[in-house]
Amino acid sequence: MIVVLLGAPGSGKGTQSKRLAGKYGFQHLATGDLFRAEMAEGTPLGLKAQGYVNAGRLVPDGVVTEMVAARLKPGARFLLDGFPRNIDQARALGRLLAASGSAVDLVCSLVLPKAEAVRRMTSRRVCASCGEVYNVLSRPPKAEGVCDRCGGKVVQRADDAEATAVKRLSVFEDLTAPLAVYYKAEGVFHEIDAARSPDEVEAALSAVLSSARGGRRPC
Ligand code: ADP
Ligand code: ZN
Repeated sequence: MIVVLLGAPGSGKGTQSKRLAGKYGFQHLATGDLFRAEMAEGTPLGLKAQGYVNAGRLVPDGVVTEMVAARLKPGARFLLDGFPRNIDQARALGRLLAASGSAVDLVCSLVLPKAEAVRRMTSRRVCASCGEVYNVLSRPPKAEGVCDRCGGKVVQRADDAEATAVKRLSVFEDLTAPLAVYYKAEGVFHEIDAARSPDEVEAALSAVLSSARGGRRPC
C-alpha cells in the first residue's frame, strides 16, 4: 500500500508521518529528512542538494526520483512524506509503481492557512543530534536550547528562517498544490484540516486510513 502525505511546509506532515508509520506499520520515506542526513554527512548527493534545500527551492526531479526509486520496495507499505512535490514527480512515481504492478492508493492532503504555516515554520526548532522536533511557542524543550530526549543542541533549520520559509510556501503553492487536481482525477484524494492539534489531525488521518481499501486497522 502506498500512501502519499501532501501539505505545505509547516502543515505537520513530518509529525503525522512518524505517528502513522508507527501505528500502521508503514515505512516512512521522507525526502527532506534524507536530504538533511546526506547534507550532514557531506555525501555527493548531499552536496548536490544543499544549495537548493537551503534556498527553499526544489532539488532537481531526477535527483529526487532516483533517491526514492532506490528505496521503494515492491509490495511494501510506504508512507511518502515530501514526494511527489510537482506533477513531473507524480508521473515518475506512477511509472515506478506501475513497473511493479502497483499505484498510489491514498493521498492525504493537510490543509493549513498560509499565515499559520509561516508561524509554525519560523517557531519550529529541531535537535541537531536526534532530530526531535520542538516549537518555541507550543512545545519548547524543558531547558532552552537543550533536547529533552538526548541532551543535544536544539537549533533552527536553516530553511525555517522567515525569508526561506516564505519562499518554500510559494514553491508549494506554485508546484505542489496542483497535485490535488492530479490525484482527485485518480480518485484517491482526501483533504484534512491541519489547523488543529496534532492529536486531532492524527485522528482524522487515522479515520481516512482505516476506511481506505487495504487500510489495516491498528491493533
Ligand atoms: P517541508 O515540507 O517542511 O518544506 P521537507 O523536509 O519535506 O520540508 O523538505 C525540505 C527541502 O528538501 C525542500 O524545501 C526541498 O529543497 C527539498 N526536497 C524535499 N523533498 C523534495 C522533492 N520531492 N523534490 C525536490 N526537493 C525536495
Ligand atoms: Zn535530541
